[in-house]
Amino acid sequence: MLRQTLSSQQGRAAWVKIDEFSPIIPQIFIVLEDKRFCSHCGIDQLALLRAAWSNVKNRRIVSGGSTITQQLAETIYDLPQNALCKPLEALLAIRLENWLSKDEILEHYLNRIPFGNQAFGIETAAQTYFDKPASHLSLPELAYLAGLPRAPSLYDPFRHPQRALERQNQVLNRLYRTGIIDSMQLQTALQARIELSKPQRLFRAPHFSRWVLSKITIDEREILTSLDLPLQQQIEILVDDHLKNLEPYHATNAAVLVVDNRTGEIRVWIGSRDFFSEQQPGQVDGVLALRQPGSTLKPFTYGLALERGLTPSSILPDIETHAATTGGDFTVHNYDETYHGPVRLRTALACSYNVPAVRVLESLGSDLLLDRLHRAGFAGLDKPASHYGLALTLGSGEVRLFELVRAYRALATGGLVQPLRYSATSDKSDEQDNKPLFSPQVCFLLNDMLSDAAARAPAFGYQGPLNLPFPCAAKTGTSKDYRDNWTIGYTSDYTAGVWVGNFDGSPMQRVSGISGAGPLFRQIMLVLHQKKDPAPFNQPAGLIRCKICSQSGEIPGPACEQKMEEWFLASQVPQDTCSVHRWVDIDSRTDLPAKAGTLPQFVVKQKIELWPPEYTPWLVANQRSLPFRVNSLSPQATTGSLRIAFPDEGDIFKIDPILRPEYQILHLEANVSEGIDTVYWFVDDSLIGWNTHPFSRQWTLQPGEHTISLSEKDSSSADRIRIQVY
Ligand SMILES: [Zn+2]
Repeated sequence: MLRQTLSSQQGRAAWVKIDEFSPIIPQIFIVLEDKRFCSHCGIDQLALLRAAWSNVKNRRIVSGGSTITQQLAETIYDLPQNALCKPLEALLAIRLENWLSKDEILEHYLNRIPFGNQAFGIETAAQTYFDKPASHLSLPELAYLAGLPRAPSLYDPFRHPQRALERQNQVLNRLYRTGIIDSMQLQTALQARIELSKPQRLFRAPHFSRWVLSKITIDEREILTSLDLPLQQQIEILVDDHLKNLEPYHATNAAVLVVDNRTGEIRVWIGSRDFFSEQQPGQVDGVLALRQPGSTLKPFTYGLALERGLTPSSILPDIETHAATTGGDFTVHNYDETYHGPVRLRTALACSYNVPAVRVLESLGSDLLLDRLHRAGFAGLDKPASHYGLALTLGSGEVRLFELVRAYRALATGGLVQPLRYSATSDKSDEQDNKPLFSPQVCFLLNDMLSDAAARAPAFGYQGPLNLPFPCAAKTGTSKDYRDNWTIGYTSDYTAGVWVGNFDGSPMQRVSGISGAGPLFRQIMLVLHQKKDPAPFNQPAGLIRCKICSQSGEIPGPACEQKMEEWFLASQVPQDTCSVHRWVDIDSRTDLPAKAGTLPQFVVKQKIELWPPEYTPWLVANQRSLPFRVNSLSPQATTGSLRIAFPDEGDIFKIDPILRPEYQILHLEANVSEGIDTVYWFVDDSLIGWNTHPFSRQWTLQPGEHTISLSEKDSSSADRIRIQVY
């Protein structure tokens, strides 16, 4: 049970059928309240007479003499308790006896009578006072509860525990005298300790429950939700622990949403760190709050670009760029405050470079992106495209975590934006409104790029939190001045979103998506796939993988040195041979291209790298100023140099005792000069494998001291370092 809400009469109740009660429960109430229940017609003349006599004798009303049926009538019709209403109560009781069987009357009675503290019915009373269902009550507990309806506030267990206990002793003695229990049972029951649960209202997954309650109609009695409570509680602990670590950086709150990709059902919804915190207004729901998305909308910009002719290998400029907005021009900066020259689209997205994203949007137009984001369900982007300008792709608008997770789930599941559900049946009616966001092929390309550890490495390294031991697409985001940071991502099974920030909007201290939300996202993904790794992303028809030059993204030519494989839509396979790398004849006297008629002894064959003129300022600033990069042709120098870039000499690694061993992997990285296309890795002088570009190799950590060496051949070694693992 996540949450129980009060009825219109400010009560809580849960209905249990009469045959689901253990038989002793109705028996006890009959003995206590109405011993001739089974034979009377609704009123008990004998009891009434006795009550009347007692009233006359004492000259005041001391005893009601009400039967179970009369008490039920009083509860149902909400009658005031006074002598004037007694005849009406009796009349209604007789009518109830005509309509209902004795069992039905008992069922209504046991489910409707008040037990105090807003609990109506024995089932809810058992939950309220003992935190268990009525079927699990012991005899002493049952006797304790059975005594309460006579005077619920007089015997209130929380306010007057002693009185309630005395009342229980009376009930037990009565049960003994009427033969329901024997003396042995009586003695044991009288000695048993009564342990009341703490007075508390059920309040689990509070933000999720509140959202569900806002969605349902009033007459739904019980809602079976899709929330996975053990998972929710496990992740609540992760959130709390992670925020403790972030306390020195002024990060006080977080929100998490986890959705099952197959059904769109919500499994985990954490709106804030602590719902009851007043200092950090915990009732604010971080899942539904509007916040700036940082870079988390970039995949949608690139999705549009792929749809309109760009490919993952298209070269985009990451060079100084000014973009126009309504407020004037702004210079686009990258997170690392440098420019990276010509970059492939795959790298630009995976490394989250800002300039290429802005340049791509410039060619598409921000109204096109805004239109697509509306289709993806981002309702908070309610201003015209001109308001956001090109900064829309950098997160100038406001979005909800809920909307991000819904839109990313569409990428994970082939491109259809579908409603997120709180139960297996909710929101089915909207299914005809499912909107296609991108084609399955475009989604596949985005999935492949967002889960590519090698593409992410130039900006985030191989050891970052997003590198999970199974296929997982993820994107981080950090809003202006570190106010919000995000990690949204998915495997083929689940989509998860994490936000970290402050509800008062105050900035964190240099907490990025990688240090703030990223580690929490990682932990959540590991928990979600504890038992089973997710399947690889679904690969639709219509995609082709082919070899490209890793610098130009075109078909490799004879002068290209670094090659790799890339995915393309079948209609967009590159047709041109690399235009960047060429063999040319160089006049060795002048370092200029050879002219016709140059004396042949001065002409040497050279490889050159030739970029379009717009890159010249960047090439100059980055000391790649030569229009041609000339490789020496002397045979000694072609060997080039090889160095282990990671790990470093003397590094120490600790094996995580919890994580499965196959996940404890070191990514060995190499610095390789041009001209070398294969490297060989050795651990403790035995060959563990060889790689071509990007020259990184995985090695599963093993305890002990190890030598790692790297070589251009499979025998000798060019660089070696020592590490320790314990
Ligand atoms: Zn090339």
